[in-house]
Amino acid sequence: MSPRGLIARIGEEGSYSEYRVGDKKAVEERLILCQKVAFDVMVDNLMNSELAVIESAEAITAIGHRAVHGGDVFVDSVVIDEIVMKQLYACVRFAPLHNPCNIAGIEECMRRFPGVPNVAVFDTAFHQSVPREAYIYALPYDLYSKHGIRKYGFHGTSCRYVSRVAADVLNRPLEDLAMVSCHLGNGVTLDAVKGGEAVDTSIGFVTFCGVPMGTRSGDFDPAIIFHLVKEQGRSLEEVERLCYEKSGFLGVSGISNDMREVEQRAGAGDDRCALAVDIFVYHIRKTIGTHAAAMNGLDALVFTAGSGENSTEIRSRVCAGLGVLGVKIDERLNEMVRNGHPNISAASAFVTTLVVPTDEERMIALDTVRLVNHGGQVPPPIASLALTYPERV
Ligand code: AMP
Repeated sequence: MSPRGLIARIGEEGSYSEYRVGDKKAVEERLILCQKVAFDVMVDNLMNSELAVIESAEAITAIGHRAVHGGDVFVDSVVIDEIVMKQLYACVRFAPLHNPCNIAGIEECMRRFPGVPNVAVFDTAFHQSVPREAYIYALPYDLYSKHGIRKYGFHGTSCRYVSRVAADVLNRPLEDLAMVSCHLGNGVTLDAVKGGEAVDTSIGFVTFCGVPMGTRSGDFDPAIIFHLVKEQGRSLEEVERLCYEKSGFLGVSGISNDMREVEQRAGAGDDRCALAVDIFVYHIRKTIGTHAAAMNGLDALVFTAGSGENSTEIRSRVCAGLGVLGVKIDERLNEMVRNGHPNISAASAFVTTLVVPTDEERMIALDTVRLVNHGGQVPPPIASLALTYPERV
């Protein structure tokens, strides 16, 4: 397995860095106040620690970055130049939590490794193929044309990766397949992917809509916002926090934003936790149905990320309600996913159900190699190393 690292809880109590090379692992709890300090820690891990894998800065020939929001300008990843930076700054208004962190990382790389090309891999780029009837809201048209208010979609890098791996596993051309990919992590995105291109996606203009998530609400009637402001006298800031930070599994269960804990408590008889799981499963199932309708068919259903890769129960319950679409899983195979069996379909299923571990970092690295070494022309192979079910860091 290639080296992997994680720096978590930046700016919070309990911040730590975790770094693995093969089966060796270094975990360090330390105060990591901001992105800049995090960057120092990362470079130290890569170059100066006992597990260092890079001899010197000169060995770095390109750097890939996850960039959450590129607006509707980028349809693919790009080598970062001044214009790209301007667009990233312009999109801060759409992704105020994510883009500033992306920008900080890119600028720090430019400062530390001058002359090394940086590549931005946009989460939004994959969804630029969504047709306009799916991405334009039925609001006054000016809001779209003058102010950029539209569905953008997120987790495109993950979806692009798993849909390509899924085609490889199925041994069929991506161009022939209609798939729904279910990225069920801290953020949740369900994508309809037809012929390798996104044709609809569950998240919209901002990241709290679609299917409910850990602390984000998912879709609800927007009139509730007017009601909370006008009738209950809450401020808009309070309502915004409510939608992003106090809703989802946490809001319904009153216990946790972590599906593992919510599932566990539901199993032990907690009714509100059971309700949170029911709501989650229901919305996933319903979205798969609408996506299948958007594609006029469904060949494959792909589960990925946190609960998608790890929760036998969520997969089982979602699929149990999809017989009408031809989805049927083999519960014994569903239990065995961890042993490296991506296909969990029953023999009689019309739709193939797969569990594919996502690897956004690999997708970012592959795009970076493609753009820097091949000028964007030669797509490198993607699936050969993908199905190893690494322990997630
Ligand atoms: P990710 O963003 O992909 O790291 O996923 C994190 C989310 O996946 C958290 O909400 C976790 O609770 C959830 N998750 C991870 N493992 C499991 C599991 N075994 N069962 C249910 N949910 C899980």
